Amino acid sequence: MKSHVQVAVIGGGVVGCSVLFHLAKAGWKDVVLIERDELTSGSSWHAAGGFHTLNGDPNVARLQRYTIDLYQELEEISGQSCGLHLTGGVMLADTPERMDFLKLAHARGRYLGLETEIISVAEAKTMFPILDEKHFVGALFDPAEGHLDPAGTTHAYAKAARSKGAKIYRHTCVEDLAQRQDGSWDVITNKGNLVAEHVVNAAGLWAREVGRMVGIELPVLAMEHMYLLTEDIPEIKAYNEETGKELIHVIDFGGEIYTRQEQYGLLLGTYEQACKPWSPRQTPWDFGPELLEPDLDRLAPSLEIGFAHFPPLERAGIKQVINGPFTFAPDGNPLVGPVQGLQNFWCACAVMAGFSQGGGVGLSLANWMVEGDPGHDIWGMDVARYGEWATLAYTNEKVRENYSRRFRIRFPNEELPAARPAQTTPLYDRMIAQGAVMGDSWGLETPLWFAPEGSEPRDVLSFRRSNDFAHVKAECLSVRNGVGITEIANFAKYEITGAGAEVWLSHLMTNKVARKNRIVLTPMLNEFGKLIGDFTIARLEDDRFFMFGSSQAQIYHMRWFEQHLPEDGSVRVRRIDLGLVGLSIAGPKSRQLLARVCDDDVANDTFRFMDFREMDVCGAPAMVGRITYTGDLGFEIWVKPEYERRLYDKMMAAGADLGLKNFGMRALLSLRLEKNFGTWFGEFRPIYGPFEAGLGRFVDLTKNDFIGRDAAMAEKDNGPKLTRISMVVDTVDADVMGDEPIWHDNKVVGWVTSGGYAHFVDKSMAQGYVPSELVDGVAQGSFEIEILGERYPAHRQLEPLFDPEGKRMRG
Ligand SMILES: Cc1cc2nc3c(=O)[nH]c(=O)nc-3n(C[C@H](O)[C@H](O)[C@H](O)COP(=O)(O)OP(=O)(O)OC[C@H]3O[C@@H](n4cnc5c(N)ncnc54)[C@H](O)[C@@H]3O)c2cc1C
Repeated sequence: MKSHVQVAVIGGGVVGCSVLFHLAKAGWKDVVLIERDELTSGSSWHAAGGFHTLNGDPNVARLQRYTIDLYQELEEISGQSCGLHLTGGVMLADTPERMDFLKLAHARGRYLGLETEIISVAEAKTMFPILDEKHFVGALFDPAEGHLDPAGTTHAYAKAARSKGAKIYRHTCVEDLAQRQDGSWDVITNKGNLVAEHVVNAAGLWAREVGRMVGIELPVLAMEHMYLLTEDIPEIKAYNEETGKELIHVIDFGGEIYTRQEQYGLLLGTYEQACKPWSPRQTPWDFGPELLEPDLDRLAPSLEIGFAHFPPLERAGIKQVINGPFTFAPDGNPLVGPVQGLQNFWCACAVMAGFSQGGGVGLSLANWMVEGDPGHDIWGMDVARYGEWATLAYTNEKVRENYSRRFRIRFPNEELPAARPAQTTPLYDRMIAQGAVMGDSWGLETPLWFAPEGSEPRDVLSFRRSNDFAHVKAECLSVRNGVGITEIANFAKYEITGAGAEVWLSHLMTNKVARKNRIVLTPMLNEFGKLIGDFTIARLEDDRFFMFGSSQAQIYHMRWFEQHLPEDGSVRVRRIDLGLVGLSIAGPKSRQLLARVCDDDVANDTFRFMDFREMDVCGAPAMVGRITYTGDLGFEIWVKPEYERRLYDKMMAAGADLGLKNFGMRALLSLRLEKNFGTWFGEFRPIYGPFEAGLGRFVDLTKNDFIGRDAAMAEKDNGPKLTRISMVVDTVDADVMGDEPIWHDNKVVGWVTSGGYAHFVDKSMAQGYVPSELVDGVAQGSFEIEILGERYPAHRQLEPLFDPEGKRMRG
């Protein structure tokens, strides 16, 4: 064994081998993989080997496509067959709602370059003749589906990696990891120790345990999973002989079944409702390449549907049932990337579909390690998307929910119930008592909308406008016509202090640093000039700043801040999280309301737009900024949690005669639409430049050499390739949800990033990116947006529909 390496990848399943291959391909020679047993001896050896591109997150779908396209190259480099059967596949819809879901997936596929097709049940039957048509309403065909040999594929990655200089140590178990002063790791194994500059946790079934070696609890859990193999089915043999073709891969959402041909029979698996975690607390180290006891009772409900949907199945004998464990994160997507708070420790785990995703995971992680950036928008897989609230118990509940919903529809207005409430603010009970419908905002219960007395506080799930429509409208109107109040505890909050704080902020952010008691809005870029943050920063003292941003990105941002802190300790960044909570009041009467509950002068010329100060509000010590995301006159009031109830109660009492009303996140997101404001992870993501995103006015290229400045300058000089636009859409009863294709001249030219109904201006609106050359001089109405299979005219809206001159927020 070597004594010193650049990278030690722990785990020789399909994912670890893919990471090793991609690192070696990128030119890193001194990379080793350490496997406790033989390669594939975790989950990889007993996988069903199916692969497909469908994923709820389009960016993950794109990487799944990369994985599938990679196999041929892998076979060529390694000389090892992956046993590829690129049969194509269909997803069968049993209800109109499921058909809507498939149309959505199809539309998304268009801008990803996926060649899916909506087909009839009769057409599906020509490719999968054993289905009974009467149970289905339509289908989606995807040519990039099929199955492969899991062991062959894992070995193909391994051989290809070896051919590029990587080493593999089998029968070597990593027993502990200890960090050295210089950030490298002592990798302690049963065969001796080595020092690795970087460690990658690709330990699959043991990823949680390897995490514990470095003091972290990764949100990952293994579930038992079963598939069965049938005896030969004569109808399949006849089809093969008649057509010379193999059956295609099938997902039957009604039965929660996936199936494909295996020899002349079927391989059929289910994501059963009565699902079962495996080793929920500790994966045994002596678990070898063995199978778990099958439990046909758990499969029975799905099998019964399968017998009806595919009648020859009922007549076929079952040859074998495979039951094996494999791992999931709470949302079913992988955990990839560097872990915040640790140096040189990387994750490539919780990959539940290793043969669809392994290539994309390996590529992004290798890019990240070698180039400093994953090279793709991999937020959906980033290990930083979870906070400390994702405990062992949370993960257990969420993974079970996710597993049992694997083939279920997730509606755009659907909040999933498992593991909630996880975190609540002091106002939770008051909000519930007033009819709040709550949503999960990065583990925190947050009011979405309020059901007035007499209506049920519950979302009716739909792809179209739903029961909240009229109530959200009323909330928007109460803001625009009077004053509304909303809880903003779910924003991310940071305190930045120290003698070096100003210089540091100026180096990280694109905008000038705020003067004392002022606020600035500023994007943050990576070295490639792409957007990695969008913040509101307020300065309270020369060396004390408060920063507000997206709650979901807190760990993502802390990871970046820590990586860029000066070593001399002159800057401290503290994630405040729920140590600070807040309320926003907005609307033309909001100043009148604030004046009633504080002793300070809050007149327009004394407390100006973008001012920030400490003052007592409702008798509670608070920090107040004159800014709101509604784009109206408004204030954000921040207090410690112990003052929040006082603040809220007194504010409600003081505002009663002004018509003060609660409003929720949905109204807030609607109000920002008519101001053309973008959202983090919607419009602002690490694949766009600041000028593309329309944030150029917050980028001061002359102030100093901030991170990403050269790239931003080049973007400006060359002209942005894409442009974010706001559009009014002529729809009838359904608004965009995000990821819909934008058409121009009968071609898909872009995609929607977010949208919905802008209630005050009474228009359906969407934002999205299109090539810049289409923006200049394009007449109104020449774009179309595809919503649930129909194309609707979309008119570019240059100015905000509400208060284009910003008089309200400044007045
Ligand atoms: C029944 C079943 C059917 C499936 N069907 C499909 C399918 O059709 N398509 C699909 O894409 N996926 C399928 N999967 C899932 C697929 O198997 C996994 O996504 C994949 O195997 C994950 O690979 P991995 O490399 O992350 O983990 P693993 O395969 O678990 O590999 C981890 C490796 O790390 C090693 N290791 C762990 N700890 C240490 C240590 N401390 N020191 C050294 N080595 C260590 C282990 O020995 C193991 O070999 C299925 C899974 C099951 C159980």
